[in-house]
Order: sequence, then C-alpha cells, then structure tokens
Amino acid sequence: MVKNFTDKWDIKSMMAEEITEEMKAIAQPAFRARQIYGWLHQHLADDFGQMSNLSLSLRETLGERYPLFGVKPVQVQVSKLDGTRKYLFALADGLVIESVWMKYHHGNSVCISSQAGCRMGCRFCASTIDGLERNLRPSEMLDQIYQIQKDTGERVSNVVVMGSGEPLDNYDNLLRFIRLLSSPEGLNISQRNITVSTCGIVPGIKKLSQEGLAITLAISLHAPNDAVRQTLMPIARKYPLDELLAACKEYAETTGRRMTFEYSLVKGVNDNLREAAELAGLLKRQGGHVNLIPVNPIKERDYVQSDQKAVQAFKHLLEKNGINVTIRREMGRDIDGACGQLRKRFLDEHDEYEDKPQMEERIRKNHR
Ligand code: SAH
Repeated sequence: MVKNFTDKWDIKSMMAEEITEEMKAIAQPAFRARQIYGWLHQHLADDFGQMSNLSLSLRETLGERYPLFGVKPVQVQVSKLDGTRKYLFALADGLVIESVWMKYHHGNSVCISSQAGCRMGCRFCASTIDGLERNLRPSEMLDQIYQIQKDTGERVSNVVVMGSGEPLDNYDNLLRFIRLLSSPEGLNISQRNITVSTCGIVPGIKKLSQEGLAITLAISLHAPNDAVRQTLMPIARKYPLDELLAACKEYAETTGRRMTFEYSLVKGVNDNLREAAELAGLLKRQGGHVNLIPVNPIKERDYVQSDQKAVQAFKHLLEKNGINVTIRREMGRDIDGACGQLRKRFLDEHDEYEDKPQMEERIRKNHR
C-alpha cells in the first residue's frame, strides 16, 4: 500500500508549529513544543523517557499518544578501503531499507532512501526489481541520518536523497523531510548541502521549483536521446527529453541553483563518442554539471561497466565542449556498493532460508 503523510500522530514528522497545536490540545504551554522538537531533532532522542526536562506524567501521556517512527540497524558493513559504512535498517513494520555514510574531505555525507523499493523500473537498478513496498515517512527519512550520526559520533554535513526510491514519487513527505532537516531548531543542515536526485518526473520538478528551496537537484539522464533513454528508463516514455530539459531550465532559472545531470555509463549502450557529442549538444544550451558514473553491474541484469578508456574519452569530449564534468569516485567498492544491492541480497537470502513473515516478526521484535 502506498501512503503519504497523513498520520496526525507521527510527532517526529511534525513541524514545530504543528507540535505547538498538539500541545495546546492537551493544555500544555507552547515552550513544551519547542522542548520536544529539540529533543527529537537536535538531541536525537529515541523515546520520550529521555526527555528529562518534561514531567514524568507528560512523558507518559506523550508515549501513549504518539508512537515514534524510526529505523533500527539490522546490519552495518564497513569498507576497509575508505571507511564507507552501509546500513541496512528495519522499519517498524518489518520492511528493510538501506543508507550509506561516506567520509569526504569536505565533511560526512549520508545517502538516504526515500521509499522501500521503487516503482520506476530503471533497467540497471537493483532497488526497483521487486517493485515499491511503500513511501517512507518524513520521520523515517530523518531517522536514517539521526541513527548514523549517533553511531559514528560524527556530524553529518551533507545529505543526498539517492538511495532506494524515487523522491518525487513521495513528494509531500520529501518536502517535509527537507524542511525538518534544515530547520535551525533541528540538525540545521543547510539546504545547499542537500541533494535530491530524480529520474525525471516533470510535474514534480516544476512544482519543486516553486517551493523556495535552495537544494541541489540532480537529474538521472543516462542517455542523450529518447531512443536510448527509453531502453534504460521506462519514465522516459512518459516524459520525453525536451520536456524534461525545459523543466530543468525552469528549475535552474527560478531557483538560481546549478543542476547536476547524472549519467551512468553502460558499455555499448550509452558510452560512445557519438553519444558524448549528442549529450554535449543538449547540455550546451542548458548549463549544469555532469556526473559520470561507471554503471555498477547487478547480478539480475547483464549490463557491463564501460572501461576506463571509454569513460575518460567521454569526459574529455564533454570538457572540450565547455561542459563541467566529474567522474563519481566509487566509494565502498568492497561492500555492496550499488543502489539497493545490500537490501536486495538480504531479502533474497531471507526468502531462501526462512519465510518472510517470520523474518519480519524477528525484526519487529528487535525493533523495540
Ligand atoms: N530515483 C532517483 C534516485 C535514486 S538512484 C533517481 O532516479 O535519480 C541515484 C542514482 O544512481 C540515479 O542516477 C540512478 O539512476 C543511479 N543508479 C541506480 N543503479 C545504478 C547502478 N547499478 N549503477 C550506476 N548507477 C545506478
């Protein structure tokens, strides 16, 4: 079942003003709302018992009224190569999602999931193979970052919504998540340090341009024309490139933010120089930055990574045309690196060895 944020009782997904309203309803002063918000989003409290400046009876009332939605680590893999940490988290209903922590010279970055599974069907992506389970709540998106910050003991400075799921397919929850994450009374992560990646849902991009946000928008392009794009991404049949690029232009002009275009290079599919030239032609008029990602092969598909020579040649051709390009540094190569791979492997293994309800029950128990 796909469900958006409508739950009045998910207090960790509420804006400060909404908590103030809730407190009014139980005859509590407004400053209690500020205290609770601070406990949830700055002290990263997991239960009301930790809120030591609230009376015991209020803590009990809150505990009865508001279940706290979060994520609980099931597995953590740490890369021996670069310290990248990949987390498998369980949600309260037993579903599993994954998140990644990466250390860069400019700070610590977390890549979060926005949905359990995905329904976009991109051919090279592991997250979408079993379809969409459900949208994540704002609280569940936030808690991936909160749990990782507590586990590492280091401040998270950058957040990328590039894990499993299509963020613009969970639009309202995404917006709430961004506003909570960047609020000064919360973790106060600058919107400039938040990147949202989309496969190209045009109405979502247009709507997002009107929200007054300073986030970076990344577009998964992966092809310089509709014919190739359609073989890789079903969404390309719904929104052709000319409509997508027009929406991107509108986004860049309205927000004043530079866009990123992601291009996963697949050997023999989208990586030759003719395609590089076609991409250069498209983006010349557009502006923006290109991020080249040698495709991460997944076992369910036979797509192969472009070789280094092809990647470099592709990059040089774009640069010759005045386009700003980087090659995505591969992090955590020794742990299940690509989107959705860790989760997929976990689900496959557990389907093989024990039935799913049993596994979900076990996770639910661990979750308390
Ligand atoms: N749904 C969003 C965000 C999720 S994935 C989107 O489509 O943008 C983040 C990026 O990783 C996307 O550009 C996606 O196309 C890419 N990706 C997914 N699987 C990949 C793989 N196996 N190899 C390389 N890139 C991949």
